Amino acid sequence: MKIAVLGDIHANLEALTVVLEEAKKLGVEKYICIGDIVGYNSNPHECIEIVRSLDLLGVVQGNHDSYISTQNDLTGFNPQAAAAVIWTRKQLSKEELTWLSKLPLKKNINIRGASTKISLVHSTLDNPHMWGYIFDKYTAEASMQYQIMQLCFFGHTHVPLAFDKTFSGIEGGFYKEFEIKPNHKYLVNVGSVGQPRDQDPRAAFVTFDTKTKKITMHRLEYDIPACQAKIRTAGLPERLATRLAIGQ
Ligand code: ZN
Repeated sequence: MKIAVLGDIHANLEALTVVLEEAKKLGVEKYICIGDIVGYNSNPHECIEIVRSLDLLGVVQGNHDSYISTQNDLTGFNPQAAAAVIWTRKQLSKEELTWLSKLPLKKNINIRGASTKISLVHSTLDNPHMWGYIFDKYTAEASMQYQIMQLCFFGHTHVPLAFDKTFSGIEGGFYKEFEIKPNHKYLVNVGSVGQPRDQDPRAAFVTFDTKTKKITMHRLEYDIPACQAKIRTAGLPERLATRLAIGQ
């Protein structure tokens, strides 16, 4: 079975649409979402509706999902992100806000017939509510100490890095495709559907094939100008539009 893992969609309907069309073509049967469905871009309602309509194995809460669905103080958010949080709070129904607020911070999933067991978290397994960033093997190690399952998908940095842990240590880096090996543990950032930050503006998502044990990164062009135009019409900060074109 092929599973698509979607992360940091951030209300980007143009990117999400292209990603789901490709997933269908690839024969994906189930979906995982590692959070931040909303924030930054201008289609939060549509993206929530689409995610909820998918055949989901699991979905966890991201920091934007959390801040948007509560009245929590926005200290620590940069001004553009905070402006988008405040804007998004006004776009969603009470029912949608409640749904976002009740998402778990982490989740373990057992897939029937598949030997690989999977954890999901938006930021880190060690302190998921602190929203820390994993960019190197030291922060990866801290999270992996709490990783019971062989494979953990995460997001939050919008930078697709994979960490591979064995008895001899941890290695990490960018990836295109690799195979899960026994006696290894993996912590895999699936990149961002709606706001990539690895200097590649194409939408990112991952597929995991439970039979071949292959993890594959996919990058897809989408209609960035259309998404930017809607950000401007909504009155969201200009920087949220310009960053999409440069993948930052
Ligand atoms: Zn995010």
